[in-house]
Amino acid sequence: MKIIVSKEIGFCSGVRRAIKMAFDICEKNEKIFSIGEIVHNETVMSDFPQIFVSSEEAISSVNNEDFPVLLRAHGVTKEFENKINNKYSKVIDLTCPIVYNVFGLVEKYSFSGYNILVYGKRDHPEVKAILSRAKRGYVFQKTGEFEEILENFNKDSMVALISQTTMNSKNYGYYKNILSEKNFKDVQLFDTICDVTIKREKAVEELIEKCDAIVVIGGKKSSNTRKLYEIVIKSGVKGYLVQKPEQLNLSEKIETLGIISGTSTPEKQIDEILNYINESV
Ligand code: SF4
Repeated sequence: MKIIVSKEIGFCSGVRRAIKMAFDICEKNEKIFSIGEIVHNETVMSDFPQIFVSSEEAISSVNNEDFPVLLRAHGVTKEFENKINNKYSKVIDLTCPIVYNVFGLVEKYSFSGYNILVYGKRDHPEVKAILSRAKRGYVFQKTGEFEEILENFNKDSMVALISQTTMNSKNYGYYKNILSEKNFKDVQLFDTICDVTIKREKAVEELIEKCDAIVVIGGKKSSNTRKLYEIVIKSGVKGYLVQKPEQLNLSEKIETLGIISGTSTPEKQIDEILNYINESV
């Protein structure tokens, strides 16, 4: 079996930055709270035994305000950010700067009277954080939902379209095209999908051309990892989404196997799976 490892693999800069900041704070403190997982990867989180993952609701009932509190890489809602900064003296914000730019855009255009349309996953922390910064925000993930939202607007409406940073860029392009043809007072279209994830999309498409099966390494809760896996499955090529070697049950008939990872997948997790594959062929 031939193995092709994509060049686009391992951590992105936002995840690398968040993990470095978390390591620094862990060196100086024995107990730390994190609002949600720092990143959606179990292996990464297991490297931080002193970090207690808490929900936004649960942290409100903790009475010791001296513990440092980490805000995850995808950001938190504006209300929660204000609340936590008032209550705790050591709040370390790990939000990726690229996500923060999106927050800034939303606040600016929302303040100027625009309706904010967000292409993203309603339950994802980043989308909740984005919506919390919009006075009139709408989220959609599918065509039907998008059309339904557009019915709320008329020729006097101002509409700004943005995307969660890890969504599929081709699908987003489709929504941008539709909105650009609408006769609203003003339409602003923003390219907020992160370049790193666009490069991974292209890389997985290159693998699809060359391989008859592809292993996507990463956490199941990681949005960009799932997106890569969905692209593989949709193409008809056999796909595997795994975090650990024991989860991988390769078919014997594979001639060329591609390997790629999500942006929150550590190198050691990739190496473990690569070693396992090399030993089993
Ligand atoms: S994928 Fe992009 S936006 Fe998300 S954490 Fe990484 S660098 Fe930041």
